[in-house]
Amino acid sequence: MRAVGFFSNNKLSRNSDTKIINFKQLIEKYCREHNHKLSKIFSPKPDISNEDDNQLDFRYKTLVNYFSDPGKQKSLILIPNSSHLANNLEIFMYRFIELYEMNLRILCIDSDTIDPLQNAEKKLNLKGREFNNLNIKRDKIFLKASKGKVLGKIPYGYKKSDLGDLIIDPKEAEIVLRVFDLYTNSDNAFGLRKISRYLNDEGIRTRNNNLWNTVSLLSILRNTIYIGNYYRYGVQISNNHQSIVERVKFNLAQEILKQRTPKRNKTSITNVFKLSKILICNKCNKNLNGLTRKQSWINNSGERKRKIYRYYICPSRKVRTNPYNQGHVIWRFDLIEKLVVERIQNLSKFQEKKLRINLISYDEKLRLLEMNFIKELRNLNHNLEGIISIKSVLNELIYFKNNKNQIEKEHSIFKEEILYKIHSNNFSIAIENISYLDVKIYVHDEFLDIKI
Ligand SMILES: [Zn+2]
Repeated sequence: MRAVGFFSNNKLSRNSDTKIINFKQLIEKYCREHNHKLSKIFSPKPDISNEDDNQLDFRYKTLVNYFSDPGKQKSLILIPNSSHLANNLEIFMYRFIELYEMNLRILCIDSDTIDPLQNAEKKLNLKGREFNNLNIKRDKIFLKASKGKVLGKIPYGYKKSDLGDLIIDPKEAEIVLRVFDLYTNSDNAFGLRKISRYLNDEGIRTRNNNLWNTVSLLSILRNTIYIGNYYRYGVQISNNHQSIVERVKFNLAQEILKQRTPKRNKTSITNVFKLSKILICNKCNKNLNGLTRKQSWINNSGERKRKIYRYYICPSRKVRTNPYNQGHVIWRFDLIEKLVVERIQNLSKFQEKKLRINLISYDEKLRLLEMNFIKELRNLNHNLEGIISIKSVLNELIYFKNNKNQIEKEHSIFKEEILYKIHSNNFSIAIENISYLDVKIYVHDEFLDIKI
């Protein structure tokens, strides 16, 4: 295959290894050993001993320009390790995506981790965190977030050979094929629920001997492993495994998935109970949860009637008849909201001055965005679609880091607005803004006790 080399002598890449390596020779040697046709090496200017960000940026652009020429053939980009392409994780991802979308693949050849994403995750840090010892990988919250990782797990339809390669498990592969067939059948296409019912009725179970459901089916229909991609981004270096599904059928399934997936409105359900954060049970100090009950009955004239009842309820409150319920509160949703608005809008001037807003700070939000970014980075495993979601997370993160002042300013304007809008005559606007207040409202059976 065709290849170009790219290396830097920036601070980070020099620090990443104690021995002094001739990167040019290294790239040439790699190409000889792997039968790649080396067409060009992009190296730092000889008179520069330590490339800075701007110089590296400029040379990276030269690399992109080189391939923008439609006459240039597709090619591997060989770098010693990820730190040669960028100084931090965000820029690296940005460049990785750009090259990926130009159909160029990167390999890190002077490292145990040849996969560029895994390599970057190991070697690079987030922007602004390069020089402190913060290791995001060890972060507790982060560990939690990454628990859902599938690394090392053998996907349904395959098993491991004695040599450690993926080989087809004929029995499971047959089910995978059947799922794709049913889902993409043009005469009689099955939806996810129908497929799971069908498989379950046939006595077919998942590998863990569970019933099939829409989630387990989705993880099959979306997994590019079935068309032969195992390594991230289909950078298949060796040991290609056999595909189970034809690419055409797989792509068709992705199209149908896109069309059928309803736009989820995540906020509509949780947002009904806006006061959960500030309403507290007087007995156990827990925040009240929302509870929705739907009832339908047939009235005397034979009509079906439906009604939805909503409550704020203490999570410690057990079933209705339990005597330990004593004191753990339950309130009708509309009654308590009305009372809260009344009480907040009629606070004394003195108390109103003490009101504070409970919004997450710039730094907290930044941390969340960074976590989210790393999480998406790890999710890219086996999943080509991931590139779309990491792109938007990355853009948000970069915007956030580049516009600190403006964001903090908007933040303070937002605070003033909230304090103004809690007095709104519009009930839902008042509730919305009250929910941002940093107050605790202790809920008793008959009254509310507001602590500011
Ligand atoms: Zn309670």
